[in-house]
Amino acid sequence: MNAFQYVRVTDHQSAIDAAMSPAAPARFLAGGTNLIDLMREGVEQPRLVIDITRLPLAVIEGRPDGGVRVGAMVRNSHLAAHPVIRERFPLLSYAVLNGASAQLRNMATTGGNLMQRTRCYYFYDTAAHCNKREPGSGCDALDGFNRMHAILGASSQCIATHPSDMCVALAALDATVNIDGPMGARVVPFADFHRLPGETPDIDHNLRRGELITSVDLPASSAGLSSVYRKVRDRASYAFALVSVGAALRIADGKIRDVRLALGGVAHKPWRAVVAERALLGAVPTRDAFARAADAELQPAVPYAHNAFKIALAKRTIVAALSELAGIDGGAE
Ligand code: SF4
Repeated sequence: MNAFQYVRVTDHQSAIDAAMSPAAPARFLAGGTNLIDLMREGVEQPRLVIDITRLPLAVIEGRPDGGVRVGAMVRNSHLAAHPVIRERFPLLSYAVLNGASAQLRNMATTGGNLMQRTRCYYFYDTAAHCNKREPGSGCDALDGFNRMHAILGASSQCIATHPSDMCVALAALDATVNIDGPMGARVVPFADFHRLPGETPDIDHNLRRGELITSVDLPASSAGLSSVYRKVRDRASYAFALVSVGAALRIADGKIRDVRLALGGVAHKPWRAVVAERALLGAVPTRDAFARAADAELQPAVPYAHNAFKIALAKRTIVAALSELAGIDGGAE
């Protein structure tokens, strides 16, 4: 058991002040569905745990520009069931309902979902070498069992994947993350929030010391798109994605006028498929066009010993998702 201090705060500034106290490292406690596991395993050893569950951040509200703001303390189950989310951003609702279990969704929060850490087995095994847990110690996944691991954007230091379903949808929907911190408030585009591993796989995201996620904004430009979330996993419930695809499409006059595509289970961060999107904008929606776009997106993929199957699986899942949205036979393969 590692000793730590516990403090409960009721306003942003107290949370930020506590996180800047000398008792580092500090961690914010929201739903606790990942942090507590990591503390039990000895992977996370904060000296200070700051309970933010009493902050007034559990609200979903409309924005003057027609978008929607989701507070960082909104529970996953509340988010997925909210009528505005279901009607205007159904991709987000589908993705959330594909994650974890009902009990976990009742606890897990929007901000916490962004902060959850990889489920790489070696990261959780404190006897294993892991550059993410202990920088410079090596990576046992490289020559170990790497079926769940990354095929895109990995580095020689780490081949872990990001585990979130919600974040795949947020990436596709062009969400932005609202942050408050010791230097004031700032807004980070979702694509810039998480990081690829590079030489610093221990750093998952671009939050600075003392900064707190306060909410996530969904822009009006992403509302009302026909969308689907496909998740391929080893069992039907409560399993992380081997590959997932969040897709949204708008077709007019026989051509693709808007397309959003993001992948989960393939990279250290939710993977926005910009190459495929570029190939599809303005194209006639056919299975061949979807297959060519998927090929282009996966062209730089690098497989490891046990996960080469993910390349073909990702392509097939992209084609199936887009075909379903376009009403093309075979979309439900
Ligand atoms: Fe650690 Fe990343 Fe290697 Fe997994 S893949 S053992 S998280 S360094």
